[in-house]
Amino acid sequence: MIHEPSQEERRERERMVKDQIGRRGVRDERVLQAMRKVPRELFVERNDRACAFHDGPLSIGHGQTISQPYIVAYMTEMLAIGSADRVLEIGTGSGYQTAVLAELAAEVYTIEIVEELSVRAQGLLRAQGYSNIHFRAGDGSLGWSEAAPFDAIMVTAAPDRTPERLIDQLAEGGRMIVPVGSVEQNLELLARRGGAIERRELIGVRFVPMTGRAQKGEA
Ligand code: SAH
Repeated sequence: MIHEPSQEERRERERMVKDQIGRRGVRDERVLQAMRKVPRELFVERNDRACAFHDGPLSIGHGQTISQPYIVAYMTEMLAIGSADRVLEIGTGSGYQTAVLAELAAEVYTIEIVEELSVRAQGLLRAQGYSNIHFRAGDGSLGWSEAAPFDAIMVTAAPDRTPERLIDQLAEGGRMIVPVGSVEQNLELLARRGGAIERRELIGVRFVPMTGRAQKGEA
């Protein structure tokens, strides 16, 4: 299925980037271009297509959400993804953030714990022609050790604390962004430099909780 966006959908995407993302301070031109290009309207539920560009998260079923456009752009910008980078994403969800990462990086490895969501995202992304995305259905709190280390790790479900197994899978110079906390979270940006881990707290956010071993405090 090849999707032909309508003129109106193209215009709405332009408007989303200008009014919701650019105006709030995201400046990286590669990120803005990826946000203009990826057809967000395809990743929401069919009945929500008319409000695909709403300035907030939307339900994608299974109690999960597609993140707010601004948050997708902001987190992507903070990871400073280069075109040769290998990226790990935890929480494929709708696959929308995955597509944005796949526009910027060399390879994307993405893990989703709800199998139906993983399968749906895989179908959508393959139909869009992405060939640099590797999918796994399972618990992402353990990372993807066979493909490690990663230049960037994007976590889009919230653990109570950052899973150590993910930090271990960061390459030298690698960055990780993760919402840490239970009901409300702070985005944490971690970087591995010279063997040490630097941490910075960014903005407050609200993500669905990370389930699996992270929730049981085992990761
Ligand atoms: N980036 C996604 C966000 C989806 S919400 C989007 O914009 O569409 C977070 C997702 O993380 C949910 O789909 C949830 O099922 C998944 N998730 C939660 N815990 C997980 C875990 N331990 N491993 C992998 N995925 C997990």
